[in-house]
Amino acid sequence: MMEKENFNVVDIFGENVFNDSVMQARLPKKVYKKLHEVMEEGKELDLETADVVAHEMKEWAIEKGATHYTHWFQPLTGVTAEKHDSFITAPMENGKVLMSFSGKELIKGEPDASSFPSGGLRATFEARGYTAWDCTSPAFVRQDAAGATLCIPTAFCSYTGEALDQKTPLLRSMEAINVQALRLIRLFGNTTSKRVTPSVGPEQEYFIVDREKYLQRKDLIFTGRTLFGAMPPKGQEMDDHYFGSIRERIASYMRDVNIELWKLGVSSKTQHNEVAPAQHELAPIYAVANIAVDHNQLIMETLKKVAYRHGLQCLLHEKPFAGVNGSGKHDNWSITTDDGINLLEPGKTPHENIQFLLVLTCILKAVDTHADLLRESAADVGNDHRLGANEAPPAILSVYLGEQLEDVLSQLISTGAATHSISGQRLETGVKSLPDFMKDATDRNRTSPFAFTGNKFEFRMVGSQDSVSQPNVVLNTIVAEAFAEACDELEKADDFDMAVHDLIKKYATEHQRIVFNGNGYSDEWVEEAERRGLPNIKSMVDAIPALNTEKAVALFEKFGVFTKAELDSRVEIEYETYAKEINIEAKAMIDIATKQIIPAVIRYTTTLAESINAVKAACGADISVQTEILMEVSDLLADTKNALSKLEEVTAQGAAMAQGREQAVFYRDEVMTAMKALRTPVDKLEMLVDKSMWPMPSYGDLMFEV
Ligand code: ADP
Ligand code: MG
Repeated sequence: MMEKENFNVVDIFGENVFNDSVMQARLPKKVYKKLHEVMEEGKELDLETADVVAHEMKEWAIEKGATHYTHWFQPLTGVTAEKHDSFITAPMENGKVLMSFSGKELIKGEPDASSFPSGGLRATFEARGYTAWDCTSPAFVRQDAAGATLCIPTAFCSYTGEALDQKTPLLRSMEAINVQALRLIRLFGNTTSKRVTPSVGPEQEYFIVDREKYLQRKDLIFTGRTLFGAMPPKGQEMDDHYFGSIRERIASYMRDVNIELWKLGVSSKTQHNEVAPAQHELAPIYAVANIAVDHNQLIMETLKKVAYRHGLQCLLHEKPFAGVNGSGKHDNWSITTDDGINLLEPGKTPHENIQFLLVLTCILKAVDTHADLLRESAADVGNDHRLGANEAPPAILSVYLGEQLEDVLSQLISTGAATHSISGQRLETGVKSLPDFMKDATDRNRTSPFAFTGNKFEFRMVGSQDSVSQPNVVLNTIVAEAFAEACDELEKADDFDMAVHDLIKKYATEHQRIVFNGNGYSDEWVEEAERRGLPNIKSMVDAIPALNTEKAVALFEKFGVFTKAELDSRVEIEYETYAKEINIEAKAMIDIATKQIIPAVIRYTTTLAESINAVKAACGADISVQTEILMEVSDLLADTKNALSKLEEVTAQGAAMAQGREQAVFYRDEVMTAMKALRTPVDKLEMLVDKSMWPMPSYGDLMFEV
């Protein structure tokens, strides 16, 4: 454990990052300038410049104790990957080595990474995958007990340039929205902004349990969630954990997490207890999308690593415990120009209002048109336990705008002009009869999957262990499409003001069905959404097809974000991932039931039977209670064995199937059902069997004794 020395955050922040101030201090002026041109204007990086940068990066990293470097990338496994090389060169004649790192090594790597999921994009004879430096996300040195390593954020592509990772499409989607948003703001007279980038602030939820206890739960070890477990007497009903004071053991852990993150330049900002017992949240200050995505990976990695040092275990799974809230990741998203204008800021003048209203209605259109894709972007196996399960946002996409904005929109729709604003300010009825409204800071709706929160949207469907890349790829691209279509209309209009007005009204009218300000958890909403024709996609398996519909292929190809082949490969990978993960869960259940639970229950029934015989022989006293318990436990034991046999049978069947949609559907419908059927008698047994004989810590032990 790190000792609690005093330190100044300002001094340690970013100390392990090869950031702009380090580059400015260490690189020759010319090289520094060239690198900035590459970063900001997308210019080609020449090898000569790369050599100088690489050399300085290496010198700096060695000063930090680094012996190795790695291209750090994000394959489609959901976690990051790395392959370390030391800086040493071949021994010289005198037997000594030099430490070197060339520009070529910096900008391109060729890990023998043929085992990563590629969905058929890389035939085995051409298994090479390349990593390419993303110079817009700074390199960093990771220091831990294993030493120090220079990590270089990279994209991961096939030999023919197809994306095999999370970063490549994200960078492409950022370019798409940059181009289209610039087009849009130029129409409104902005001639000065040079770039538009999406800003992302992902709030990360997680659970913390004691590591000793964790190690006694094979389900947590193998799958990240509990596969068995009866509810303790207390759950989250008292709401006493939410925002409660943070216990010292956890606070001390959080402090060390923050220190690690700050050193890595991650602006960890907010921390608090979440709704469920043992659940917490960490939020950084938002950053440019690709950096935010990288940082979120560092946050997840750091949460796990530091927990280990504190004798704790961090659970990032979306649903570690049935019966209490699961964990998600709120993806806060906005679009900002390089000179600091947030396009989602409602603004104070009618002129700004009009641009804002167009941006807003474009987003409504985008979300309505591609609700299936956004839903898909939040699909992962663990998230199926949350979405639509009465806690996290429902699986139905809708947009929350708040009372005031919704009112402005409905005035527009009904009369073609909005003349007043609910908050009662004086209205600027100006050119377009649009009110001057302020951002709505009053009400908050926690049940909406896509909520406008003042000057950003908060997409709340994302799972806690999933990368936030895909949701942002989809958001950037669908909004780029809506902007492009709006610009196509407006660029040919004779009367711009009139045309904008009409377009806002048109979009608001055509897509008002996506706006919903009520309770997203209610059954009425499910029915209402169905009447409105909004998709309610309940499982990952049903969400996946959205990725390569004709609509999706046209969208992603138009903006160069994915090719059809890339989308097809992702579909294939997702079905495979689904089947594999459920298969592991099923096998873990079989293992635990066979080797731990059934033997424990048999021991207990033996004890009971012996007690019955002994009591009977000793004095002939009433043994009806023991007998009743013995009967009940024995019946449940029989149910357990039957359910176990059924699970073994379907799991074997599933595993023998060819990979693809059919197999994934089988795992969801047959294997998951058999898993639930096995869990039921086991959870009942846990409530009956002598606690000292139960083979693993209970929910109560895990959630309340950290
Ligand atoms: P909460 O939603 O819990 O009230 P905030 O809204 O203040 O908290 O912030 C949540 C996250 O949203 C933080 O990561 C924050 O940096 C981020 N955020 C704030 N403003 C923006 C913005 N304009 N664009 C993107 N993210 C933002
Ligand atoms: Mg929030």
